[in-house]
Amino acid sequence: MDIPIPHGIFAIMKIHFFGAARTTTGSMYWIEVNGKNILMECGLFQGHRQESEALNHELPVVPGKLDAVLLSHSHLDHAGRLPRLCQGYDGPIHCTSATRDLCSIMLMDSAHIQEQDALFVSKVRARKKMPPVSPLYTRKDAEKCVQQLKPHGYEQTFEVVPGVQVTFREAGHILGSAQIILDVQEKGRRFRHLFTGDIGRGGDELLRDPQPVENVDYLQIESTYAARLHKQRPDADNLTGQMVKSALQAGGKVIIPAFSVGRTQQIVYVLHELICAGKLPRVPIFVDSPLSVNATEIYNHHSESLRPDIRDTLCNQEDPFGMKNLTYIASAEDSKKLNDRHEPMVIISASGMCEGGRIRHHLKNNLEDEKNLVLFLGYCAEGTLGNQLIAGKKSVNIFGEPHTVRAQVASLDTYSGHADKDELANYVKRLSGDIKVIACIHGEETQCLAHAETLRAMKPSAKIVVPAYKQVLEI
Ligand SMILES: [Zn+2]
Ligand SMILES: [Zn+2]
Repeated sequence: MDIPIPHGIFAIMKIHFFGAARTTTGSMYWIEVNGKNILMECGLFQGHRQESEALNHELPVVPGKLDAVLLSHSHLDHAGRLPRLCQGYDGPIHCTSATRDLCSIMLMDSAHIQEQDALFVSKVRARKKMPPVSPLYTRKDAEKCVQQLKPHGYEQTFEVVPGVQVTFREAGHILGSAQIILDVQEKGRRFRHLFTGDIGRGGDELLRDPQPVENVDYLQIESTYAARLHKQRPDADNLTGQMVKSALQAGGKVIIPAFSVGRTQQIVYVLHELICAGKLPRVPIFVDSPLSVNATEIYNHHSESLRPDIRDTLCNQEDPFGMKNLTYIASAEDSKKLNDRHEPMVIISASGMCEGGRIRHHLKNNLEDEKNLVLFLGYCAEGTLGNQLIAGKKSVNIFGEPHTVRAQVASLDTYSGHADKDELANYVKRLSGDIKVIACIHGEETQCLAHAETLRAMKPSAKIVVPAYKQVLEI
């Protein structure tokens, strides 16, 4: 269903919650301000396949009527529907420079997956004499979209539409991630609206810490882990070391499903440190994802988004993302060859939620052997294969066939790119200003509601809301 975007001057800024409302994926917020239309984020819905597909195909805004698009970071749940939007939108998509570079590879990769999926579904339909389906978007759409990405530096304020100034501030969640500060002048009143995007934990090995924002009037805050606590980092590194070591010593393989961008670079770095400290044997490590190869290059090129002390490590002077026993695999042929090798090894592959990519082949080949370890390091949305494995399912379907789970499955949320309950509370404490309204978004419903409770206790004078899909907030 399309909701037409009306024209005319509004005295009140309105935010329409078109995604990541009482759920984590599909981030999309349409802002009406000063008679202009801004779209903040344009992400994919993920998990629960059929439901997500229907939501992804529906574009609740009229692309041609938008004046500008703002993007906090390159993860697909925030950027993954941009090529679809750009089928009808020709204007700028404002983001940081590292986000532009990461999007240029991630959106092309996503388009390739969309094309492959459509091809597969069309083949199945052809057997039933049904017409083919077309992909959500193609590589051509993604190419056009990438041309529209307009890079900005952190802390460089720019006017996005008349009366709305935008500044990107470090969010510490993934390379290039930003909080979006909107300074609005509307009908003689001025206010500051802060959209957190996804907020990192701080203390990350690679990324800078999220930075506080001053003079906030309205806050739109993520809630992914608002009711949970993560383990502390040093414990996690030791735990990772112990788990990986014992699987390798038993002669098993360690399979790590990880997003190609961010988590892969982080775990490579952690394994590197553990090996240098003598806590892990120098077994072969494979990063099996073509996207990771390019993403790692982009990490190397954007030192402005990384910790300044990143190279002061145990493995001083060595490439933090490379070591002698590490192999990056780009070709599908080399990826298949891993199946014929039976010595202990670590395979890092995407996608992190196991919804697509080569990780599904590695799981298919390794889940049934009890010597192996499958180690999850990130968030897996409800309904995804990763989520089923973490939940302890004894049999899972991969490529339409059931597989018994005999391998050990472990999940560590310490390497999460998202702040936990206490870290979110600390983040809010560091914001200054008289906050009038807080909208809790980007979390499963239980997390958003719990977040609202915590914030009510912290900010008794603020109105706390948990918007539902398509709800409108007037500011
Ligand atoms: Zn993210
Ligand atoms: Zn997100």
